[in-house]
This record gives sequence, structure tokens and C-alpha cells, in this order.
Amino acid sequence: MANTPYDLIVIGSGPGGYVCAIRAAQLGLKTALVEKDKTFGGTCLNVGCIPSKALLHASELYEQAGHTFAKMGIAVGAPKLDLAAMMTFKDEGVDGNVKGVAFLLKKNKVDTFQGVGRIAASGKVEVKGADGKAQMLDTKAIVIATGSDVARLPGISIDEKRVVSSTGALVLDKVPAKLLVIGAGVIGLELGSVWRRLGAEVLVVEFLDRILPGMDNEVCRQFQRLLEKQGITFKLSAKVAAVDTSGNRLKAKVEPASGGAAEVIEADVVLMAVGRVPYSNGLGLDEAGVKKDNRGRVVVDGHFATNVSGIYAIGDVIAGPMLAHKAEDEGVAVAEIIAGQAGHVNYDVIPNVVYTYPEIASVGKSEEELKSAGVSYNVGKFPFTANGRAKVNLQTEGFVKILAEAKTDRVLGVHIVGPDAGNMIAEAAVAMEFGAAAEDIARTCHAHPTLTEAVKEAALAVGKRSIHM
Ligand SMILES: Cc1cc2nc3c(=O)[nH]c(=O)nc-3n(C[C@H](O)[C@H](O)[C@H](O)COP(=O)(O)OP(=O)(O)OC[C@H]3O[C@@H](n4cnc5c(N)ncnc54)[C@H](O)[C@@H]3O)c2cc1C
Repeated sequence: MANTPYDLIVIGSGPGGYVCAIRAAQLGLKTALVEKDKTFGGTCLNVGCIPSKALLHASELYEQAGHTFAKMGIAVGAPKLDLAAMMTFKDEGVDGNVKGVAFLLKKNKVDTFQGVGRIAASGKVEVKGADGKAQMLDTKAIVIATGSDVARLPGISIDEKRVVSSTGALVLDKVPAKLLVIGAGVIGLELGSVWRRLGAEVLVVEFLDRILPGMDNEVCRQFQRLLEKQGITFKLSAKVAAVDTSGNRLKAKVEPASGGAAEVIEADVVLMAVGRVPYSNGLGLDEAGVKKDNRGRVVVDGHFATNVSGIYAIGDVIAGPMLAHKAEDEGVAVAEIIAGQAGHVNYDVIPNVVYTYPEIASVGKSEEELKSAGVSYNVGKFPFTANGRAKVNLQTEGFVKILAEAKTDRVLGVHIVGPDAGNMIAEAAVAMEFGAAAEDIARTCHAHPTLTEAVKEAALAVGKRSIHM
């Protein structure tokens, strides 16, 4: 296969890279995909979205079995946790997904190479296998889709046993008595929820004075209260300065964010969830002259092109939200652009979901963003306590909030705290993609009884005419 000229070589097989390779092959480009790890699918399938959602699903059912089954007349007694079996369930889910990607790549006739890809020059990619042997591939275009890696705090080293990143938190072999989570972002709250449901005492330490930075404030305030009701405790405006690993229990030195006296908090496991950083180690970007910004992200223009002709980049390694579906859409768009089409990603309509219970989902602008941009807007809100399906399912926490431009009624943002919010947000994304007004959602027939009726009612509430409130 060496020296075969390709139209496109994609480096990295995460949701950005493998989707890009498949779309390019569909468009008739001779395409190769290079992956350094043993399996395809990147962070998302192997150590991110898929395994975390498997554990969130299983742990939520475990909690329901212990708390709500009896109320519905299902007598199962106190559920017993078999953590090893739960981990096997998760691993099988991951395995099925990564095999699915391998199948799709083969079906679409994408050539795959296992090894570390390095851009040797424009149009040349060297692939070095685990055995140290290198081969050089020629190509017209290169897409960098090398994703991201765990962000670390200086002075705290991750051993993936007691001081873990998300990767270690997905494979713990016993439930920690106490889990200290550093960072109240999506990953910290999702994995904190998993281990709280399975029996851990969970404390989340966050540097800022709020959880989920960047998301709508009202949503986050209510969400924090709900998580506290479930038993998670928060220490906001605080930072973990050090973790002493010398004893049987970990001792975290926690200080106020603004400085001041430190306290020592003991824990059995510390989860470092302070974000992710772009990953481009070993790619040869500097030698190839590819520009990065001050946060290490590959700089691209509106067509995903870097400053070096024929080299493009997508996904977590470039700017923008670090989300699998954003990477996928960029993968499709860049493949279409390379094939001479007009690929495009609408960054105003990228949904964001936190898969806890209840779920948080949003698309478009938050109230804070609209205020700071000086946009006049109307708010329509509807609580799940007034939704028939949520009531009968005993899932009444949360609300739907729709923000619509005052003058035109155009939907600018939708925010949901509630059961199945992650699925429900799709309706809002489609509506916004088509430039819908709140009136359009309000006049669309929604099936009864469904949770989605709360979306319709929130749209009605924009015009102050919801029926069930
Ligand atoms: C715990 C966790 C949960 C998450 N949950 C969600 C979620 O629910 N929803 C969501 O949208 N996002 C979620 N994310 C984020 C999501 O995983 C990322 O946004 C997504 O994987 C980015 O895709 P990517 O293709 O850019 O890169 P990645 O998925 O990181 O893939 C990059 C690939 O490139 C390979 N690679 C790197 N360098 C080289 C090289 N030189 N040669 C060959 N191969 C190389 C890597 O091995 C990797 O396979 C989660 C992340 C984590 C950690």
C-alpha cells in the first residue's frame, strides 16, 4: 500500500476523522485513515461519550430500581451492585461500537493504517507502527483529526488508580467511599453522578462560582439544586492546590479561589475533570509550518484549511466546543469542501447535552449571551410539573425555556432541564436550523402524552398563552 497516491489522508479516527473518511470515500475520493490506537472511534467511542453513557444508563436504572420501582408496584428488593458485570456491559457496548466503525470504513473502501501519523511534508504522511517500522504515504490533501487529551493541573499527577482522569474513572474496580471531583463541567458532573448513584459520597470542587460554565445561569442554578438533592455536594470558588497520595486516603489541599487559608479534604479517589486540551503530539506540525494558537489549537479558516496548502483540521484539535457531533459535522463539511462541494457547519445551532438525571440540553444563545449582545427577547417557560407524561412517570424536575427575538419571534435559544432533554433538544435544533419562530413550534402538533408537549407549551408561553399553566 506504501506510495499509493491518495486524494485524502485523515489522521485520527475519532468521530471527526472516521466520519470525514467515510464521507470523502462516498464522494469518490481515494481515502486513507491513520489511527495510532488499536481500535477506531477515538476518545468518543473508546474512553468518552459511549462508555460514560453506558455507565450513566446502567447506574440510573440501578438507582431507579432502589428508589422508584417500588412506587410503581415493582418489588425487586434492594438492588445489588455487580460492578464487574456493569463494567463488562459497558465494555461490550464500546466493543460493538468500535467494530461498527471498522465495518463502515471497510464497507466504504477506506484504507486504514495503524500507527502514529506524522506530516512529513505537504502531501506526505509517515505512519510509524508499534514495531517501529515506518512507511510513507503520498496524498493530495491531509485532514488533521487528532482530537484532544485530558487537561492536567500542575503539581497533581494522575496515576489512573486513585488520582484519575475521566479514562480512569470509567474503569474503577470498586466504588470509592469518597470521590472528590475537580471541576464542575460536563465530564465531572456526569461521572460524579455515576459514582454517587453507585454509592460514593461525592464532593465537586469548582474554581468558578457556578457549575457548567458557559451554560444558561438559570438552568445551572436549578440543576445544582437538583444534584444537591441527590446528595452531591459542591464547593464553588475553590481550587485543589495539591493532592497528598502518601497515606491510605488521599489528602486534597483545597483553597479559596481568591486565595486564603487552605483546608485538607480526605478522599479515596480524586477525579481530575478540568477540561481537555488539543492533541497534536508527534504530528510534526511545527516542522510542517502549520500554525497553532496560544492554546495549542490548529488554526483554520472558514473552510477548515490551515495556513499550509492541502492541510486541513477538524474536531477537538481546532477551536470550538469539544463535542463529538461538532467534530462529525466538521468531518462531513471538510470532506465535501475537499471534493469541491460547499461543505458548511452552522455553529449557531450545535446542541449541548449533559447526560445526568435530569438531563440538561441547550441549543443557541443563553439569556446572558443575549443580554450582553443587547438583543431584546421574550422568554417562554414551562415546567415539567405541569406536563402529564412527566407527572405520571414521576419525573417532574426541570423546565423548558425558549428565548425568542422580541421583534421577529425567531427562536434564538432553547434550554431544557428535564428527563430525556438530550433527545428533546433535537426538535429545537431543527426548528432553529429552519429559522423557526416560537409561533411555528407552538402551532406544530405534538403527540400526547409526551414530554415534548412541554416544548410546545414553552413556545406558547413566549406569547403568554400556554394552555396547561
Ligand atoms: C468522558 C468523556 C465523555 C464525553 N462525552 C461526550 C458526549 O456525551 N457527547 C459529546 O458530544 N462529546 C463527548 N465527549 C467529547 C468527545 O469525545 C470529543 O469531542 C470527540 O471525541 C472529539 O472527536 P475528534 O474526532 O476531534 O477527536 P478524538 O475522538 O479525540 O479522536 C482523535 C483520534 O486521533 C488519534 N490520533 C491522535 N494523534 C494521532 C497521530 N499522530 N496518528 C494517528 N492517530 C492519532 C487518537 O488516538 C484518537 O483516536 C466526551 C469526552 C470525554 C472524555
